[in-house]
Amino acid sequence: MKRLVDRLAAERALPRQDMLALLSCGDAETLEHLFARARQAREAVYGRDVYIRGLIEFTNFCKNDCLYCGIRRSNARARRYRLSQEEILSCAEAGYQLGFRTVVLQGGEDPYFTDERLCRIVRALKAARPDRAVTLSVGERSRESYRALFEAGADRYLLRHETATKAHYENLHPGDMSFDRRMACLASLKSIGFQTGCGFMVGSPGQTAEDLLNDLEFIARFQPEMVGIGPFIPHRDTPLGMHPAGTVGMTLKLLAIIRLLVPDVLLPATTALATLDAHGCEKGMLAGANVVMPNLSPPAAREKYALYEGKATAAGETADALSDLRRRMENIGCRVVVARGDHMGKPRK
Ligand code: SAH
Repeated sequence: MKRLVDRLAAERALPRQDMLALLSCGDAETLEHLFARARQAREAVYGRDVYIRGLIEFTNFCKNDCLYCGIRRSNARARRYRLSQEEILSCAEAGYQLGFRTVVLQGGEDPYFTDERLCRIVRALKAARPDRAVTLSVGERSRESYRALFEAGADRYLLRHETATKAHYENLHPGDMSFDRRMACLASLKSIGFQTGCGFMVGSPGQTAEDLLNDLEFIARFQPEMVGIGPFIPHRDTPLGMHPAGTVGMTLKLLAIIRLLVPDVLLPATTALATLDAHGCEKGMLAGANVVMPNLSPPAAREKYALYEGKATAAGETADALSDLRRRMENIGCRVVVARGDHMGKPRK
């Protein structure tokens, strides 16, 4: 098994059968070797720096009805909110003062945020702090819309592909959502010039090892600048609320494999991982991650932005929380840096 890990590290690929064997391997020594190789690969590109992104969850209105998501449109129990431009700018400024040089605007697909409104917010964020990167995570939009947002100054875009298996995609989403459209959105984002992130949930209901292999193959082919993965966590007010959560162990293993497949990828230890494990963030870094996304949303919003239950309110909004994060990263030999933390491959912008 260790030889498979070495081969993966050297060739950035593994035949399907071997990858399958690695995915089902529970041997502690092999896993430690996998994590060590992943750390080595990360360090060769990014050193021991950890990049922080200030996450602002600016709306939980959503026109989509994803079967796993707590803010799906049919969840009548979700208390809806949206932040004003002024609120967004003031959260981002508070984050800037703390050292955040990237702000991530994430939300449901809220038709209120037309191109005009969203571009105005992006321009205001860039005008206020020109040395700050703006990342958007607002779902599927037209190519023209993506282009307008890019021209307004947005640098990066996160759009998880959710699963690279069409049939599994269709099991997780209602009939009016399309796997092909999601993939086409990702291709548009990349060709427009965004640093682009894809990703998937680990342990989504019905997910097989084959599905995970498809995700890994897609990632290796797409060569994203960022990959976001985290365990599926059920939300009681959704149709998939009775399914068990994904596991921390499988998430860590996949983080390490993704690091070896795409060594220069920006790879966060996500909130979902930190929700299932109080040390999820540290464990993620030790498995090859190099990004954390603390929450800068106002506390009332943070609570209502419930994609799943028991969401960890990741540290970040206060100087104390951030120094706690710094200390935790130092304890594992990493260092939180004040930097935009752009992708280190071919610079796009
Ligand atoms: N609406 C935007 C972004 C917000 S959702 C979009 O569609 O891209 C951000 C991510 O949260 C989703 O891509 C999904 O992978 C994840 N997510 C949603 N529900 C979840 C759940 N129950 N457990 C874990 N992750 C979930």
